[in-house]
Amino acid sequence: MARRNQIYEGKAKVIFEGPEPGTVVQYFKDDATAFNNQKKGTITGKGVLNNRISEYLMMKICEIGVPTHFVRRLNMREQLVKKVEIIPIEVVVRNIAAGSLAKRLNIPEGEHLSRAIIEYFYKADELDDPFVSEEHITAFGWASPQEMDEIVSMSLRVNDFLSGLFFGVGIRLVDFKLEFGRYYNNEDVKVVLADEISPDSCRLWDLKTNDKLDKDRFRRDLGKVAEAYQEVAKRLGILPEIELAENEPNEIIQQI
Ligand code: C5P
Repeated sequence: MARRNQIYEGKAKVIFEGPEPGTVVQYFKDDATAFNNQKKGTITGKGVLNNRISEYLMMKICEIGVPTHFVRRLNMREQLVKKVEIIPIEVVVRNIAAGSLAKRLNIPEGEHLSRAIIEYFYKADELDDPFVSEEHITAFGWASPQEMDEIVSMSLRVNDFLSGLFFGVGIRLVDFKLEFGRYYNNEDVKVVLADEISPDSCRLWDLKTNDKLDKDRFRRDLGKVAEAYQEVAKRLGILPEIELAENEPNEIIQQI
């Protein structure tokens, strides 16, 4: 990690130059932030778990024909991905009312939506990632109408697929956030799924108990954050492959 050139440091990941042209390395940190950086902490082992969970989900999504930036996992905390130009939009897909939707429209959390709803947020920390419509996105040139068609169709396919995958392991996919990027290959430009898919970016509720198995445990001080991420990995059948360092306790949350 030390000899690599750092390109960008985000809240939960660091991006380094990749070993091959057209690639970058995503390093998953244990840092957690919420409410646009107002709450900060560390969840020991989170980076290892998210690296593996995101690898697993991205590979499954690739199998159903949705292109992703994922190339391969390199080690416990790093994965090699294609270098893309990130489209500055967070695409949120919702199946059940929760979080900012429940708050904005005063809808009880847990209410099933009659159909999946897609929302867009403009990625701008200084503006608190404002809610925007497709009109804003195309009018300001953040993405073209054709790119938006592809983004919507890929997001709905990912939702159908992941809802089924999680349902099969006793988890309800309440909502999640996706990011997309433009992958330039010679003359060709292709929109691909980028960033990560993990309990940091999804709301995952236990089917029977509605227990939260995601970052809301950190946002809302519910405790047992790392245990919840581990539970997701366990149910997906990928926990035995993750060896958390022996001296790392299962959960330490240090408020900074
Ligand atoms: O906060 P909100 O209800 O809009 O979040 C919707 C979904 O998007 C949640 O699963 C949340 O974890 C995810 N999200 C994210 N990154 C953000 C904002 C939301 O991963 N910056």
